[in-house]
Amino acid sequence: MNEQIISLQTEVSEKLSAVTDLTELDSLRVAYLGKKGSITALLKGMKDLSAEERKTFGAEVNQLKEFTTQKIEEKVKELGEKEIAAEIAAMPLIDITTPSSCECGSYHPITLVQRQCETIFKTMGFAVIDYPEIVTDYECFEALNIPKHHPARDMQDTYYLDNGQLLKSHTSAAQNAILKKYGKELMETGKPIKAIFPGRCFRNEATDACHENTFFQMEGVMVDKDISISNLIYFMKTMLSEVFRKDIKVRLRPGFFPFVEPGFELDISCLICGGEGCPSCKQSGWLELCPCGMIHPNVLREGGIDPEEYTGFAFGLGLTRLAMMKYGVKDIRNLNSGSLKALSQFTDDE
Ligand SMILES: [Zn+2]
Repeated sequence: MNEQIISLQTEVSEKLSAVTDLTELDSLRVAYLGKKGSITALLKGMKDLSAEERKTFGAEVNQLKEFTTQKIEEKVKELGEKEIAAEIAAMPLIDITTPSSCECGSYHPITLVQRQCETIFKTMGFAVIDYPEIVTDYECFEALNIPKHHPARDMQDTYYLDNGQLLKSHTSAAQNAILKKYGKELMETGKPIKAIFPGRCFRNEATDACHENTFFQMEGVMVDKDISISNLIYFMKTMLSEVFRKDIKVRLRPGFFPFVEPGFELDISCLICGGEGCPSCKQSGWLELCPCGMIHPNVLREGGIDPEEYTGFAFGLGLTRLAMMKYGVKDIRNLNSGSLKALSQFTDDE
């Protein structure tokens, strides 16, 4: 092999092994393989050689060029890996389990009240059931003793879909399905139906401080032999006393709802004046909280349960209203506002 080539190859090997960064490596690449580089110069000088010499010398120079290119590529890889390792080593150590310094979120007041009610009813043996927001006319009205063209539908105008389904106007829309699902077990084993089903409801109405087109309810039913209004009063009183952390007086007033007979409005003693009378309770000492009553025989029958043998109560607790009372929220619209300033001030007091 040509001596010039041998010494150049030795030089390339030595210099490349001494390189410590990518900038230096690039300068070397230019010095050997660039337009004016020493290996390129050897190729250029071949024109002065004889045809015989050019053949041998050309092959040797090309071998040197390939050797140099390969060595440079290896060095690029090696230095690149070293640089990444150095960057990682220079990074500060981060403890990913440390809580973020930004403010933590909070539960919505309705979620707080809902969870509290669920816990209370669960301890009294009620199952908590989830139910869709989009239901059929049958589930929302017909199965609940509200046939088409019944005037009671006027009070519950809601949003209808093109396929005839609708956004449920009350959580009672789940009653029929629940009676059917658990009624069989009741009749076969005697296990009473005890269920609550919280959910979002919709009404097509103008909004003001007391009305919203979207609100939350929690329906409850209990069906067994010999269930009476006393059972209803007991469960409601127990639940409300737990929610408000004090003994709450309740009273029933007659109220008309097609799916209960007899039907009632359940009032609680005013929490602001303690029953003395104030502007919030219109001086009556009572606040209206939820419609309830004994499940209408037609509704039981539609759910596959014999009303001659079994009776049951149902209530439709307004979770939105309960949250407003518990946390002193005066305008219902604040609850759907998404304003963190308004909503983050409530905490779970359990
Ligand atoms: Zn009052």
